[in-house]
Amino acid sequence: MKFHEMTSGALAAVDRDQTLVVLPIAAVEQHGPHLPTGTDLIICGAVAEALERALPESVLLLPTHWLGASAHHLRFGATMTAELDTYIATLGEMARQPLADGFQRVLFLNGHGGNVDPMKIALRELHIEFPRAILSGASYWSIAAAVIAAGLEGEDKAVGHACEFETSIIQHLRPELVDDEKRAHAGPSLPDEIEGLFVSRDMKQRTRTGCTGRPDLATAEKGAAMFTGIVERVGIAARAMLAEPLPE
Ligand SMILES: [Zn+2]
Repeated sequence: MKFHEMTSGALAAVDRDQTLVVLPIAAVEQHGPHLPTGTDLIICGAVAEALERALPESVLLLPTHWLGASAHHLRFGATMTAELDTYIATLGEMARQPLADGFQRVLFLNGHGGNVDPMKIALRELHIEFPRAILSGASYWSIAAAVIAAGLEGEDKAVGHACEFETSIIQHLRPELVDDEKRAHAGPSLPDEIEGLFVSRDMKQRTRTGCTGRPDLATAEKGAAMFTGIVERVGIAARAMLAEPLPE
């Protein structure tokens, strides 16, 4: 079910207890020299649409939210961002209406690194208002970490930025948007974690050209295989949220 393609009458008839409201949250920000700024929007939206196709009776999909928390990309330009407080408030406002309307199961499906921390804060805040609801959220890459690790050739076995992973997926979903002449080994990048410590660095400090890892190793075939695996894993996670008993 797609919220924005249904009438108010059709929405009124949807089972409030046994439906998972899915809010895909993405971003539009610089993705290095070779990928489009809408990379996260395209990938997150495609995963969310595929999830709805797999579970059309029990998923109520909202439109993909495109404005993310991306201040750490601003110094490269080509980046849209919401202030963190605005972003947290917006996520709360988007989820609050279905919850106030009686829906009991919410899943934020995230597709952008900068959204992770504010997403968790929004969920914590919503829980104070709706203690009986099942309020969940994750980045698709944490749900499907094993699938992604198995699908990558380069040393980095996780999702970076405009990396082997993201490039492969865009080559699969929207190959015409990849600037192949500019697709190259990103060179070294600084981590945002050292010895268990989170280190706050922006992308200008972490990378030379705004991307990480091995975009040179990306292929559409890898992208297709990982995309299929991600959709499967996200489907398992969504079913688990539908099976969770509602709290007393
Ligand atoms: Zn991103």
